[in-house]
Amino acid sequence: MLAVHEFVRLVPGRNAVAAVRAPSHPRRRRRAQFPARYGALALLRHGLSGREWPRAWPDQPLRKRYDAVIIGGGVHGLAAAYYLAVNHGITDVAVLDKGYIGSGGSGRNTAILRSNYLTPEGVRFYDRSMRLYRTLAADLDYNVMFSRRGHLTLAHNDSSLRTMRWRAEVNQMQGIDSEVIDPAEIKRLVPYLDTSADTRYPILGALYHPPGGIIRHDAVVWGYARAAAARGAHIHQETEVTGIDVRDGRVQGIRTKKGDIATPVVLNATAGWSTLVAAMAGVRLPIQTFPLQAAVTEPVRPFLHAVVVSGTLHVYVSQTDRGELVFGASVDPFASYSTRGTLEFAEGLATHVIELMPGLSKVRLLRQWSGLCDMTPDFSPIMGGTPVEGFYVDVGWGTYGFKAGPVSGEAMARCIADGRAPEIIEAFGLGRFGAGELVGEKGAAAVGH
Ligand SMILES: Cc1cc2nc3c(=O)[nH]c(=O)nc-3n(C[C@H](O)[C@H](O)[C@H](O)COP(=O)(O)OP(=O)(O)OC[C@H]3O[C@@H](n4cnc5c(N)ncnc54)[C@H](O)[C@@H]3O)c2cc1C
Repeated sequence: MLAVHEFVRLVPGRNAVAAVRAPSHPRRRRRAQFPARYGALALLRHGLSGREWPRAWPDQPLRKRYDAVIIGGGVHGLAAAYYLAVNHGITDVAVLDKGYIGSGGSGRNTAILRSNYLTPEGVRFYDRSMRLYRTLAADLDYNVMFSRRGHLTLAHNDSSLRTMRWRAEVNQMQGIDSEVIDPAEIKRLVPYLDTSADTRYPILGALYHPPGGIIRHDAVVWGYARAAAARGAHIHQETEVTGIDVRDGRVQGIRTKKGDIATPVVLNATAGWSTLVAAMAGVRLPIQTFPLQAAVTEPVRPFLHAVVVSGTLHVYVSQTDRGELVFGASVDPFASYSTRGTLEFAEGLATHVIELMPGLSKVRLLRQWSGLCDMTPDFSPIMGGTPVEGFYVDVGWGTYGFKAGPVSGEAMARCIADGRAPEIIEAFGLGRFGAGELVGEKGAAAVGH
C-alpha cells in the first residue's frame, strides 16, 4: 500500500485526489496555505518533501442564516456557488448535500462534453459551457483533465441521417464545428468500427463534432468545491434538507436534519431528487426521475480516440486516459429512484457494443453502476425563478447535464444576483410548459449524452 505522498509522487495528475482524501496533521494544517496551490512547483515540493497536503476545503459550522442556500452539492450547485462569489461578490452562501459532494449524477456520469445540439437555444447554451470548460483547469487551479477527442453520432437509417444533417446545419449557423461525414471517413477516424454493409444496422454516416471530448468528472466537482470554499462559501455534506419555509409567497428559510437556516434565496440543484425538493416549496415540476446505467471495462491499450454514439443501438463508448472503455445507454424504461444495476442492461449493452466493434468481444466488463436522471418532456432543462419568490431551480438535467455545469452555474449566479433570468437561459424557464413553448432536444439528447 502506498503512503499518500508516495502516491502523489508516482501519479502527478492525481495530486488533487490525494489532497481531498489526505488526513492532515493539525500542526501542519496551521502552517498550510489555504487553498494550497496545485501548480507544478508545489507538486514537486510536496512530492519531494513527503509533506501532507492541506484539506481542499475546511469544515465550517452550520450558520443560522445565509444570504443564499444551494441545495445539491453536484457540479451545478457548486458551480453556482463559485460564480456567485467570483462574478457577483456574493459569498455568504451555503451548499448543502444530503450525501457527499458528487454523490449524485455528477460523480456517476460518463463525462462526455459536446455542444452539437438540435435547437439554436441549446447549441448556444452548451457552447458557452464548452468555452468555460476549456479554461476551467486554469480558472480553478485544478487539473480537470479535459481531453478533446471528437464526437461521432452514427446514423443507421435515413431518418437519423436527416436529423444529423439538420443538426449540422443548426450547429454551423451557430458557429459550431460540426458536419455529416460518410462511412469511409468514419472508418478512418475509428478503424475498429464495423462499417461493412452486411450488418443488422449498417452505418450510413455520422454527425462529426471535433470539439467534443471527455473530462474527469469528480475533479470538476472537487475543483469547484475548493474554489468556492476558498472564496467564502460553506460546503455542508451529510446535511439533508427536509423542508422549505414559504410565507406570503416568499422563501423564509429551510429546515435540515442538522437545524434550521433563515435565508431569502434557495436554489434547487438536486437533479434526480428535484421534484421532491420543489414540492417542499409547493412548486410542481414537469419532471420524472429515471435510472440511467453505465459500465466500464478493464483497461486496454489506447485504440479509441473519438467518442462514438449510436442512438439506434442505444449505446455509446469512449476510452479513458487510463485505457478503460466507458459505455452508456439510454435511461431505463421505467421511472424509479433505484440506483441498482441490472443484468438486463449489461447483456443488452454487450450485444450492442459487439455489433458496433466486434473486436471487443474478449474485453471484460469491470463494473456497472446507475444514477438518477430528471427527465423533462422536451429534453431541455428548467432554469430560473418560480412562482415562489426567492426559490430558484436549476433542474431537468436528464442524461446530459454534466456538460452544462459551468454555464448553468454562471447563469444561475447571475439570475440570483439580478433577480431575473439572463438571456442565455430565457428559453428554459418553467413557464414554457404552460405557454407551449417547448425547446425540443430529444433528437440530440436521448442517447448521446
Ligand atoms: C450513468 C450516467 C451517465 C451520464 N453521462 C453524462 C454525460 O456523459 N454527459 C453529461 O453531460 N451528462 C451525463 N449525465 C447526466 C449528469 O450526470 C447530470 O445531469 C448532472 O450530473 C446533474 O448534476 P447536478 O449537479 O444538477 O445534480 P447531481 O450531481 O445529481 O447532484 C444533486 C445532489 O443533490 C443532493 N440532494 C438531493 N436531495 C437533497 C436534499 N433533500 N437535501 C440535500 N441534498 C440533496 C444529492 O445528494 C446530490 O448530490 C449522466 C448521468 C448518469 C447517471
